[in-house]
Amino acid sequence: MHFQLASLNLSEAAPDLDADGALAPETLFAKGDSALAKVLHRGPFHSSSTVQNAAYASFLETPIGIAVLVLARRLISSRPSIAKNWSLCKKYLENTVKIACSAEREIDEDGCEVLYGRAGLLYGLLYLKKALNDFSSSSIFSSLQEDFISEYYDSLKGLVSDGTLQQVVESIIIRGKHGSRIYSQEFRNHRTPPLPPLMWIWHGKRYLGGAHGVAGILQVLLSCPNVVIEPHLVEIIPTIEWLVGLQDLAGNWPTKAPSNYREGHQVNELVQWCHGAPGMLILLTTLLRRAPGDVPQELRDKIISSLRCGAAVVYEQGLLRKGVGICHGVAGSVFALLAVSDALDADSEERPYLTFALHLAHLATFYESFTAQGHMRTPDHPWSLYEGVAGMCCAWGEVLRRMGSETLRSLECSGQPGYDDLFT
Ligand SMILES: [Zn+2]
Repeated sequence: MHFQLASLNLSEAAPDLDADGALAPETLFAKGDSALAKVLHRGPFHSSSTVQNAAYASFLETPIGIAVLVLARRLISSRPSIAKNWSLCKKYLENTVKIACSAEREIDEDGCEVLYGRAGLLYGLLYLKKALNDFSSSSIFSSLQEDFISEYYDSLKGLVSDGTLQQVVESIIIRGKHGSRIYSQEFRNHRTPPLPPLMWIWHGKRYLGGAHGVAGILQVLLSCPNVVIEPHLVEIIPTIEWLVGLQDLAGNWPTKAPSNYREGHQVNELVQWCHGAPGMLILLTTLLRRAPGDVPQELRDKIISSLRCGAAVVYEQGLLRKGVGICHGVAGSVFALLAVSDALDADSEERPYLTFALHLAHLATFYESFTAQGHMRTPDHPWSLYEGVAGMCCAWGEVLRRMGSETLRSLECSGQPGYDDLFT
């Protein structure tokens, strides 16, 4: 069963994409709604259903993503399948938020990562908040009946209020501090560089990258409104500084937190969003964009040099053999280079990092022949957003938009979908 957005296969819902006008936004939205309807038909949304554990409540890999999309689409779509499931999806999300915010007797540092856990739920709430904000500032808002606004807009505002976001954030931060204390105990008899004030685990391992690790969790935390996240910058910024210090000489990062700083230089082989430089680069650019006044000049300089070094390794190794998807494929490399372009290209007319991204995006157009020749593998979900061609389509669209495409200029696509697309 496919409830996960990350592996949702849209091709079965869109067999006639070669028709004229197939790429028009209204056609694509209709196809998307139709795919949602099919998933809803098989989905877990009934009156008594609920998420059992907030550690499995993410936007990308659990039914929460479907619920969030239904709530957001209902604001502008009256398609029967969406209207019919709206209340159940709202209840499902409300129950999940309640579980995520409820006090627990024993805190552990697990279950907070983006792909499955609490940071993924937080992303879903932020996505919905953005949809509500966009809706309230749209031209149709003032012409709508009060009943509609009250039922479908006002009733969702509490679910994504700063107070609710604050509770989910607190739950993640408390676990991060707990994880940091345990991590520090492992070094109590050693002289080490300063250890991070926040640390989490996933399946017992201290991952660092975008999908399961520290970088992905911090990325979503930094995407929260200022009033929510400012009290926690005192822990977040030193944790990011610690991550910068782990970059190796080639420009990449380890998959996991070091267990012994005396191990010396190691080779970090994975250069992909889920593990390695791409996820780190997106986080570093987000910090510069979201909290510029809170980053001391010395750290800012370190981050810029880290971005240059990391972007070089992503460009050199970013034509990945695992396919063109976002998670461990070329699209993830392209989104990382576009993020670096946003941060550093303003200083140069040549826009070198956009050029790097464009080159990889162009090479990815040959993915079928690379695959046929055995240079590239076919992923498990070849059409999906995070493993397959759908993610690469988003990356191609993003590159074209930055090149000035008239067709795409009006679209609000900016950044990696499901991760780094909450702010323009
Ligand atoms: Zn991956």
